[in-house]
Amino acid sequence: MADEGKRSRLYLELDLNKDGKQTGFLRVPHSVHRSAYGWIPIPIACIKNGDGPRVLLQAGNHGDEWEGQVALGRLIREIEPARVKGRIIILPSANFPASLAGMRTSPIDDGNLNRTFPGDPDGTVTQQIAFFIEHVLLAQSDFGFDFHSGGSSLTYIPSTLARRSVDPAQTEKVVALMKAFGAPISYLGAALQGADRTFTAAAHRHGVTCMGTELGGGGQVTPAVLKVAEDGIRRILAHLGVYRVDVPPAPPTRLLTVAGDDYYVYAPEGGVFEPLAELGDEVKSGQPAGRIHFNDTPWREPAVASFRHDGLVICKRVPGRTERGDCLFHLGSDLAAI
Ligand SMILES: [Zn+2]
Repeated sequence: MADEGKRSRLYLELDLNKDGKQTGFLRVPHSVHRSAYGWIPIPIACIKNGDGPRVLLQAGNHGDEWEGQVALGRLIREIEPARVKGRIIILPSANFPASLAGMRTSPIDDGNLNRTFPGDPDGTVTQQIAFFIEHVLLAQSDFGFDFHSGGSSLTYIPSTLARRSVDPAQTEKVVALMKAFGAPISYLGAALQGADRTFTAAAHRHGVTCMGTELGGGGQVTPAVLKVAEDGIRRILAHLGVYRVDVPPAPPTRLLTVAGDDYYVYAPEGGVFEPLAELGDEVKSGQPAGRIHFNDTPWREPAVASFRHDGLVICKRVPGRTERGDCLFHLGSDLAAI
């Protein structure tokens, strides 16, 4: 790897090789006007008990996606080392400055953490966080989970997602994890091609089995979606044998794929978005998806965006105010239908 030999400048207060439960901070040095020798405190926990699977649980990759952050905080508080076999590292708010600001991206450097891997130990704050996650945390993990949701601009049917692998046995392994999580739907993307800047790509570079989620979103937490997240996280940990915990059996998950870019619907112009479909709708190719109203010239007929394929509406835009190019919807298709 090109960046081999470079070292992270971040300081981890925990010893990842020590048994027991440790909580503390990953310190990102941040010398600024109000604090000459200060650091940014990213919360982190490590629960280890002997040998076993090494698992990284992460949320807050995007700061305004709350369900995973809340679920992982609760998990830190409840988990007892005696019930663990192996090691669970929990990073609930990976892009902590973004989380603190309630934003998708960092207010410090505009960094979108999930477009920043493999990061740079000498780069901006977000680049330094990405470098640490990839080269320190993922480099010593067997399984990596990244709990996203729709954030402020989108809302999802609670989902798990993963990439296909060139190795069918590896794909089977992630499908088994999706079934264990038991979200209402799960979708498999195409295998990664070449370099990519996401956590998923970082995990693949280190041979880490990886699964993500799109839990809900709309910039909020709802009890129903939080329950999907909390039950699902416990079930995947039990499935891996790393955490002994009683959980209700997994409900069935509907296996889908997002077959290509034209399964997304984008705003054709700027204006006010009126959705013409809802999450969970089965739609047909050519069916109107939404209207964009022109409140600067309200006598003009609204522009209409249409679905270009049959499919299930799994993601919908939330805010009314919309610019040309904003994502309004995307569809999933049953795996068997492809
Ligand atoms: Zn996200």
